[in-house]
Amino acid sequence: MSELAVYSAPSRNRDFWFPDGDIVLSCPQPHGRRCLFRVHKFMLTQHSLPFAEMIKKEALLSVLETLDGLPVVLLPEPASEIHKLLCCLYNALNGGAFNDEERPITRYDWLLRICSKYKILPLHKRIVAQLKAEWPATLPAWDAREAHIAALLQQHIAAGPPGRVHDMYLDDRLAEPVLTIHTARALSLPQLLPAAFYDLARRDPRADWDALHTDAAARALPANERLLVGGVRSARWGALCAHDLLVLAALKETLATLVREGWEMMRRAQIPHAVCDAARKDVLERSKELAVVSRDPLYAAQWACQYTTKAGMCKSCETNLVRWLATFRVSCWLTLLQKFQHRN
Ligand SMILES: [Zn+2]
Repeated sequence: MSELAVYSAPSRNRDFWFPDGDIVLSCPQPHGRRCLFRVHKFMLTQHSLPFAEMIKKEALLSVLETLDGLPVVLLPEPASEIHKLLCCLYNALNGGAFNDEERPITRYDWLLRICSKYKILPLHKRIVAQLKAEWPATLPAWDAREAHIAALLQQHIAAGPPGRVHDMYLDDRLAEPVLTIHTARALSLPQLLPAAFYDLARRDPRADWDALHTDAAARALPANERLLVGGVRSARWGALCAHDLLVLAALKETLATLVREGWEMMRRAQIPHAVCDAARKDVLERSKELAVVSRDPLYAAQWACQYTTKAGMCKSCETNLVRWLATFRVSCWLTLLQKFQHRN
């Protein structure tokens, strides 16, 4: 090995430059520069077999560059990604990259890719568990997720203008469904698809994540800022492939049919008292309108359950209507799951 002679002004990473480190990782940075991390072989090898292979004695003999007498291993991943990976490996006790609870895990989809490539299994497992929690496969878990998001929304409303909490808009804090669909497809995690597609079906096609969040200037445009302050939930519409667009269109058709048929069935069910019947019609009319406007029949039916208890019905009729609404929600969720059980 020859001592490293020429680097185009590489920078030493301040967080990961350990004086007793025994290997240097070199990663690309923007503008053709490289960033160097002086770390410990054992930290890489104990977590990752591919890393272990890469830096075992014989492999390092073929390394052409050294720095301060240490072998320099060139990695293709951007320095920012390797920095986050090292945060996870070195700071396991405080959660590494996970200690920032405000940021949704899907922003770490690249971390999942690195974990797959370097076979860092415990971290991979943890990210997948978090993804499953964020995109749940059961209705109670979905309701818990929605309650959490509603609480976040309240924080933003309470913050007043400009509607930012931890310097973020609500849209910054929510996981983005199109990216999740990509991750689910790429990593064979089909259990994420029902919740991701349902969430996507609710979002406004005019609110494009890329247009809103490209950079600070885009976020500051008055029209964009108005949307963000208003709590818009955007999606990466441009990244949705033709197949998934078709899946989404079919899902929206299905949901519209479910609402039409479900509400009609609840409207027609026999009810013994005229006063209760009138109250029921009112509940159903309002909640059907909400289902259409919100594109969220699960939410509309849940809202109707709460509204029913204030609608002035007798206890028996109230209980029946709440039961029908709950049954509608369950069948809606099951239909959603069935749609993604096979080829979708
Ligand atoms: Zn009654």
